[in-house]
Amino acid sequence: MLIIGSHVGFKKDQLLGSVKEALLYNANTFMFYTGAPQNTLRSQINDNYTNEALLLMKKNNIDINNVICHAPYIVNPASNDKDKQEFAINFITNELKRCEQLGIKNIVLHPGSAVNESREDAIKNIIFVLNSVLKHNINVKILIETMAGKGNEMGITTLELKSIIDNISIKDNIGICLDTCHLNDAGYNLNEFEKYLDEFDQLIGINKIGCVHINDSKNEINSHKDRHENIGYGTIGFETLINIIYSTRLEKIPKILETPYVGKNEKEKIYPPYKYEIDMIKNKKFNNNLINDIINDNVNNIK
Ligand code: FE
Ligand code: FE
Ligand code: ZN
Repeated sequence: MLIIGSHVGFKKDQLLGSVKEALLYNANTFMFYTGAPQNTLRSQINDNYTNEALLLMKKNNIDINNVICHAPYIVNPASNDKDKQEFAINFITNELKRCEQLGIKNIVLHPGSAVNESREDAIKNIIFVLNSVLKHNINVKILIETMAGKGNEMGITTLELKSIIDNISIKDNIGICLDTCHLNDAGYNLNEFEKYLDEFDQLIGINKIGCVHINDSKNEINSHKDRHENIGYGTIGFETLINIIYSTRLEKIPKILETPYVGKNEKEKIYPPYKYEIDMIKNKKFNNNLINDIINDNVNNIK
């Protein structure tokens, strides 16, 4: 069975609101940040919302094991600054505790950037931070995301990810989150995705993949840019993304859309595309009028 959802909000009513939003998109999973992705301000988890959310998930056959949390991207586990390392360890540990309280089993983490240091040192720092977090023995798996290689981003090749994972002491609590836009921008040819998986399996093991972010890319292969595009509207293309989504080797892995909102113009991108993209994916049929359909439906609904 296809397990598909998108990035959703986590606002005043917390997980309950996230589930409700996912259901609007006809999704059977979802991904959320426990607060704004750009900052580390976090509010107290309210168990009443969580319990209502769990009931609603049960009613709609959303398996919490497939639900993903995403850590904010301003923590830098690769930093060589002792204060920043300590901040990252504390923040990620608390984020894991929040996941545990919510019943969430998987959290995606960006490995960070090598700032004023070699990539070798950055890898050592990532390993140190991850092992420091994992020794608290919180029962939540950290999924390191494959990155596009923008600036000095780490985690852009399978080998680099391997060199991190191989040195993690508690192997059961570490995994990988693939991101199709990032893989494309990092230089992997996704028309040969099964080959990519073969290599990944040899070096790391396919069983380590815990989530796949499904995004098209605004930029060419190997551009190291990281700008997501709507499904079928970028350089990766609909067919290739469908092949990845339905790859039998990733059947039980949740697929999460992180594509941009759409709108009439650049300034007004206010409509989520997820319901429509999930529909295209389920039907395996590209809609070349997607953006207009979304805008028209939303405008008609408001009338
Ligand atoms: Fe991410
Ligand atoms: Fe991603
Ligand atoms: Zn991205």
